[in-house]
Amino acid sequence: MEIQRLINTGWIKEIPISNLIKHTFSVLDGRDSDLAVIRKSLKNGNVLISVADKGYANVFLCAKCRNLALCDCGGKLQIKEKATAPICKLCDSQSKNWKCKYCLADRPYVIAKGMDRTAEEIGKAFPGVEVLISNSEHVVQLREGEVKIVISTRGAEPVSNYAGLILLDGEKMYNQPYLRAEELTRQNWFGLISRVVADGDIYLSLLNNHPLVQDVIRNERKSQELLNQREAAKLTPFYRVCVISGETKAVNEFANNLQKLATFLIVGPSEVSKNQSELIIKTTLETSSNLVELIDEVTRLQSIKGRDIFDFRFDPYDL
Ligand SMILES: [Zn+2]
Ligand SMILES: [Zn+2]
Repeated sequence: MEIQRLINTGWIKEIPISNLIKHTFSVLDGRDSDLAVIRKSLKNGNVLISVADKGYANVFLCAKCRNLALCDCGGKLQIKEKATAPICKLCDSQSKNWKCKYCLADRPYVIAKGMDRTAEEIGKAFPGVEVLISNSEHVVQLREGEVKIVISTRGAEPVSNYAGLILLDGEKMYNQPYLRAEELTRQNWFGLISRVVADGDIYLSLLNNHPLVQDVIRNERKSQELLNQREAAKLTPFYRVCVISGETKAVNEFANNLQKLATFLIVGPSEVSKNQSELIIKTTLETSSNLVELIDEVTRLQSIKGRDIFDFRFDPYDL
């Protein structure tokens, strides 16, 4: 986004790259399923499957009554590895011999699949092809001359050329509640697409009319729409942002004083945990030196008083 803004202002000159490599794309509502694309691609080489999450069953329901599987503490249960007892996401306690709290049935129904579960399903669908799992804990490497299916989380994809690319969990990755979710999904997907050989097959788990699908098909790596949204929302790269956190009382007081100044845009304060609040201050690029001076001043006062009242994050990468 930052670079795109600089291209738009003319500060960086964009050199168009001629894209001679052609791929065949399939989408969620298209004719070919992900399995069909894998089957076709395996005839020509390795297949990479990109997924959002590690684990096996990250959220599951009771298979009989479809109630959510919860721990006694109210936390969601997850199954980290196949054939292991569910573990609570919040308190980490194990639920051996899990039974549904409502109907006492004991069969889980998985609604948020992790990569291990995907691997199990793919393995069943393609017996005889080795399925490898690559994630932040262990990045696998591919040797030449072997045909394999690799299932990987973002950033752990083995460097190789692929005959087929299956981009799963599109909705989930694109809609995560972080500022840069769309941007990072775009970046990741375009990066992976560049590793697919000429005439290779690519499956996108989004509907055909999704803006990202349309951009991928047109090989349009920039998104003016996302950039416009950022500008309208007064966010980076058009505004500079400082997140201030500290004790609720102190943050509230600070926010009141800032409001009187009326120099900056203020969002919050909002309570993030017990007695801890967060305040977001925004300013245009042109007036951002005022914000830097203000933060400098507060930090100076803090060091004179010898205690840290606030924590500052200036232009945090994500919000
Ligand atoms: Zn039940
Ligand atoms: Zn618990």
